[in-house]
Amino acid sequence: MNLQQPITYIKGVSLARAELLYKELGIKTCSDLLHFFPFRYIDKTQFYTINQLRQNSSEVQIIGKIINLKTVPQKRGSRLVATFIDKTGTIELVWFRGVKWLKESLKINEPYVVYGKLNFYAGTFSMPHPEMELLKEHKLKIQSAIQPVYSSTEKLTNKNITNRVIRGFIEDLLVKVKDTITENFPEYFLKNYNLLAKKEALLNVHFPKNQSLVAKAQYRLKFEELFFIQLQLLRKKQLQKIKIKGFVFENVGETFTNFYTNHLPFKLTNAQKRVLKEIRKDVASHAHMNRLLQGDVGSGKTIVALLTMLLAIDNNFQATLMAPTEILAIQHYNAITELLQNMDVSVEILTGSTKTKKRKEIHESLADGTLKILIGTHALLEDKIQYKNLGMAIIDEQHRFGVAQRAKMWRKNTIPPHILVMTATPIPRTLAMSLYGDLDISVIDELPPGRKEVKTVHRYDSNRLSIFKFLKEEIAKGRQVYIVYPLIEESEVMDYKDLMDGYASIEREFPKPTYQISIVHGKMKPADKEFEMNRFVKGETQIMVATTVIEVGVNVPNASVMVVESAERFGLSQLHQLRGRVGRGAKQSYCILLSSFKLSSEAKTRLKTMVETSDGFKIAEVDLKLRGPGNLMGTQQSGVLNLKIADLVKDSSILYQARNAAITLLQNDPDLSKPVHASILKTYHRIEKNSGFWSEIS
Ligand code: ADP
Ligand code: MG
Repeated sequence: MNLQQPITYIKGVSLARAELLYKELGIKTCSDLLHFFPFRYIDKTQFYTINQLRQNSSEVQIIGKIINLKTVPQKRGSRLVATFIDKTGTIELVWFRGVKWLKESLKINEPYVVYGKLNFYAGTFSMPHPEMELLKEHKLKIQSAIQPVYSSTEKLTNKNITNRVIRGFIEDLLVKVKDTITENFPEYFLKNYNLLAKKEALLNVHFPKNQSLVAKAQYRLKFEELFFIQLQLLRKKQLQKIKIKGFVFENVGETFTNFYTNHLPFKLTNAQKRVLKEIRKDVASHAHMNRLLQGDVGSGKTIVALLTMLLAIDNNFQATLMAPTEILAIQHYNAITELLQNMDVSVEILTGSTKTKKRKEIHESLADGTLKILIGTHALLEDKIQYKNLGMAIIDEQHRFGVAQRAKMWRKNTIPPHILVMTATPIPRTLAMSLYGDLDISVIDELPPGRKEVKTVHRYDSNRLSIFKFLKEEIAKGRQVYIVYPLIEESEVMDYKDLMDGYASIEREFPKPTYQISIVHGKMKPADKEFEMNRFVKGETQIMVATTVIEVGVNVPNASVMVVESAERFGLSQLHQLRGRVGRGAKQSYCILLSSFKLSSEAKTRLKTMVETSDGFKIAEVDLKLRGPGNLMGTQQSGVLNLKIADLVKDSSILYQARNAAITLLQNDPDLSKPVHASILKTYHRIEKNSGFWSEIS
């Protein structure tokens, strides 16, 4: 039996039904159907007595009998009401459809098993449209007591492809194929990792014999799914390490040492030191570095980036640093030129607004090797940018760039340069493992000393006046403040108006010449943005009114207050990024989240989380729980969206176990050539070919 056959092979699946199943659920082949897993189960092993029913009981099963049946007229047609009793009490069964037929066929005073959803109204329980079965027939059936529920759609239900019908299809299929289901894990795997055999797992996930087998079957299938994803990622990483030889940076040379001993403005944190060590280990070996550096806002990634670039320069290579926005590129440029001011290292910046003449100069000095460090935006990816010898490429804020950009950087030299990807958006570990499983990961999990936690509060729009008063007090102390407005593309016009209205009211409240205000938004010319930004950086203005363009990376240590307008419209990671703009100096800083009174429950959770914690990883976990992996940046290109049974949030412990199993396997048998691993290798190849786990398993 070939599982790749279309589902029309199954009894009862006509061409029309097959088309509908494909359209609605993406089920095309028998294999698709076999791996269409129930999303929950109805437990019919349990019976209730009527006196056990509670208002919050949802679906229940009761044994009893009908003692009375009556038709009650209503506006349109009539409803059928049965009085149903057991030894302990009475409930009502109600039908609105099929009244006539039911009235004739239901039996009075005969024991029934009823099953359905319970309603509670005016002191009585009732059950609309219950499933009814005579007790004597119920006893004859050997059907499984735990029943699977498959997700369905309205269109399918309308065409009478109900849960029961889908269950029938799968039953028919399982009967036909159960003896051809092969195991893809070796015997010792099943034993070591305590896994149900594949066939048992598939049978029990669809038609479980009992609760404990449901759990075991799910565990096995989740483990398998996650295991093969991890195996792909880890093997890819392993192959890259073997195939792609990196440039070897043998020397920790003069520039690095000179800077480290004479010009470092502060002591590195232990976390920064550890990460540098990890990077140095990579570049000193023959391996090609492909490393992700995670570090919360303000954790000090820039200095790590600079030192890493100096390593390249000391080995006669050039280095580049790419940022997602022009403002951020400028900040990096300013920070790095300042750090290097007493050293002889050439640094340039290239963005979309670099003038032609300057651009030409940069092209030339890049090509002849006199330019050592180039900082810029994605303009750096243009084909015209040719280096003499690029050895290190650093990409800041990875989640704004795609995998494609990473790949483009690779091609900027005949041998790919070492790549360091930096992100300030903490990614929950489970997600990082699945998204970046092919990268090595370093984490700066320690903030520079002396930082005070940013005091965060949630206030309503009506508190605005007292907030303005607070801002004035802070400004009087010499501090600077940010006031940020949302800018979401779909409603750009409205947002722009909000920003301008807000700006006008702030101008009224904070009049010149006592107060100076900068404004930065997406509709401004880059040169104007830079001008305004710089006024704020230099302290010439005390208030920065902005849309989220300042979200990433901007560093003004004197700023002590971040006010977020319409905070309910921001996502958690954005809010976290924004808050990271303050608390960069030694002074106490504040983050004020303003919202309207009307808040969705998700928005409430977001704001509450921000008030309660400043740990970026915790915030990321909440974000993942709220939005699911599908809506987080970067997941679109990866396989994590196509998971059929595992859930990255709920099944994180299985993920760790599966990943460890894959690591152990590759240590024992790097190329999966041992005969005992033949079945794993076969599945691995199949997935590789089809780029999806369940796509062709038979
Ligand atoms: P991010 O990781 O968000 O890019 P930055 O590199 O911009 O953080 O660093 C934030 C601030 O902390 C900068 O002003 C930087 O000079 C300072 N900083 C970084 N590392 C240290 C350290 N080890 N000790 C003290 N200050 C540091
Ligand atoms: Mg940064």
